[in-house]
Amino acid sequence: MLDREHYKRLGMEEIFHKVEDNTRLEMEDGLRLYQCPDVVAVGALADRVRRRLHGNAAYYVLNQHINYSNICVHGCRFCAFHRKAGEQGAFELSLEEVLHKLNERPERSLREVHIVGGCHPALPLGYFEDMIRRVKASRPEVQVKAFTAVEIAHFAQLEGTSTRSVLARLHKAGVDMLPGGGAEIFSPRIRNLLCPEKLDGEKWLKINGEAHELGMKTNATMLYGHLETEGERLEHLLALRQLQDRTGGFTCFIPLPFQPSNTQLATTLPASTQLRKIQPTTGVEDLKTIAVSRLMLDNFPHIKAYWVMLTLKLAQVALHFGADDLDGTIVEEKIGHMAGAESEQALTREELERIIREGGFNPVERDCLFNAASPGESLPATGTEN
Ligand code: SF4
Repeated sequence: MLDREHYKRLGMEEIFHKVEDNTRLEMEDGLRLYQCPDVVAVGALADRVRRRLHGNAAYYVLNQHINYSNICVHGCRFCAFHRKAGEQGAFELSLEEVLHKLNERPERSLREVHIVGGCHPALPLGYFEDMIRRVKASRPEVQVKAFTAVEIAHFAQLEGTSTRSVLARLHKAGVDMLPGGGAEIFSPRIRNLLCPEKLDGEKWLKINGEAHELGMKTNATMLYGHLETEGERLEHLLALRQLQDRTGGFTCFIPLPFQPSNTQLATTLPASTQLRKIQPTTGVEDLKTIAVSRLMLDNFPHIKAYWVMLTLKLAQVALHFGADDLDGTIVEEKIGHMAGAESEQALTREELERIIREGGFNPVERDCLFNAASPGESLPATGTEN
């Protein structure tokens, strides 16, 4: 599969040797990978690394997403999820409603709950501490992955305290891990166009670093396929790699293709803002981005093919392009679907395992922190309930 002569013909012999020797790739290597016309050749290099790390395993988790509110003080131009208070489509769950969602089907096996929302103008930090404590009390077996760095910065601002103090309080309340959202693209040029009000890339990295210092693991994302260049994607990856060198606290990287439907980028195009109509990413671009991510992020244990954004079929193929994780059962997904994602809203354990097996890999159930469920410890299957 990895034929040196083929890479020589593509002008990528040096990168081929670096991958063979497990030598770190640099910015120029990343650009050449992106510019390579042979996506299968790029994918084969990433697959080499993926198999070195994980063999034939492909991971999934029995999880549930809960969005507590989509009311948000910001108005990011790529976001179809947020609403202003009182606007049509705005919602805000009470703590009872959060618990009700969690326990709607108590027979459903669950290892992880993923809780995020907009930057609500009024809900205080104590509300979220209470939410997490009650979630933990209600389902003690479930790990809680909650609140992006954007929400952490917002809670700190409302509370008049530091982000480190917010993280410590939420960790104490029971948050096991932060999801990787809100990273978007770190480039100040792009953030200024897409989300000028939101925290900048440096602050996002600082908050994740603080979480790592407090002993919390976090994930990292990259939203791509809008206005950014390939160089800006690579700068994003290198900034993550640099922080990971220092803290080792990142568990998984998740590249997220931009979904343009119902966002301002698709509907408002004032010439003065330099915005142009954005088309959805293609499959080749998605696969190449996953492969480049696997190759550049040599210190990240896991690369996720997030089936909600990619579609399940492309996520399955991505397992051959460097990805080793498919995320999970989800139950109810709002953020991607409000932006036009065409995937299912939820999957069963059986569906995920079938996709992985028929993709040629061994399904491995994991927990929130990517610890594999040991044989015999797997949570009981409950038919189609997941
Ligand atoms: S991306 Fe997050 S911070 Fe930005 S508008 Fe949407 S919900 Fe608010």
